[in-house]
Amino acid sequence: MRVLKGQTALVTGGARGIGFAVAEQLAQQGVRVAIGDLDADQMRIAQASLEAAGAEVICVPLDVSSSQQCDTAVEAAAEFGGGKLDILVHSAGIGLERSFLDTSDDEWARMMDVDLSGAFYCCRAAGRKMKEAGYGRIVTIASTAGVAGGTGRAAYGSAKGGVIMLTRVLAVELATYGVTANALAPGAIETDLVAKMHSETTRRVYRRAIPADRYGTPEEVAAAAVFLASPSSAYVNGHVLAVDGGFLAAGVLHKD
Ligand code: NAD
Repeated sequence: MRVLKGQTALVTGGARGIGFAVAEQLAQQGVRVAIGDLDADQMRIAQASLEAAGAEVICVPLDVSSSQQCDTAVEAAAEFGGGKLDILVHSAGIGLERSFLDTSDDEWARMMDVDLSGAFYCCRAAGRKMKEAGYGRIVTIASTAGVAGGTGRAAYGSAKGGVIMLTRVLAVELATYGVTANALAPGAIETDLVAKMHSETTRRVYRRAIPADRYGTPEEVAAAAVFLASPSSAYVNGHVLAVDGGFLAAGVLHKD
């Protein structure tokens, strides 16, 4: 049964990676999907691929570090949905692996602008619409780096920790309006972002720390997002769900 059929979603960062997998799985459920992304070319490729499978999709040019563009994207998505936006999955983000002492002012500021302020702007705009409508599902894509300290994660981990906190506050403030807000904390997931950032050595270290002994797939993260985006998750609110192959659960050494 497709319980999401006829709903409308905005998926930021939906042109590729985790965001695209979310857009694809929502579309398979009969959801109208607005993709918001900085990469216009990749967005068109994503749109064509989803439309070929019968989905209703629009592309919304979006830089999430602009508050005004986030407001406009939410408006465009709601218009696509006949005035309402049921679902926001906020996946747009950038990565950075830099030691605390080597992180420059510019790197710090860029990370906060995109990964933290971007989440704030998009969730605020969507939250306002959903409060008005009396229904909504907000899913932010945080990271295990926002939960556990790790080397090279001063800016990225701080931004993602912030995303988790703003998701919790939103969950509390909108709970009586039929709106839920939950965060996913993916571990290492095979996407372009990780392909650029993880050397062979990094991959070996990660795999040793992941009980599942492998990286996750964007589809595995998307499946969790679809659950949190659905009406059946109504009593799950302000939660941080790790999708990490057991990485956070293991904590310390678990293999020889
Ligand atoms: P990705 O690089 O494959 O995709 C990210 C998408 O976001 C791209 O399409 C990019 O164009 C878009 N984007 C980047 N900056 C943007 C901006 N300013 N405005 C609008 N769009 C922008 O990355 P991914 O691996 O799919 O990551 C998606 C999210 O998941 C990110 O927030 C990332 O931090 C988080 N995450 C990823 C992993 C992982 O291992 N891949 C782990 C934990 C968390």
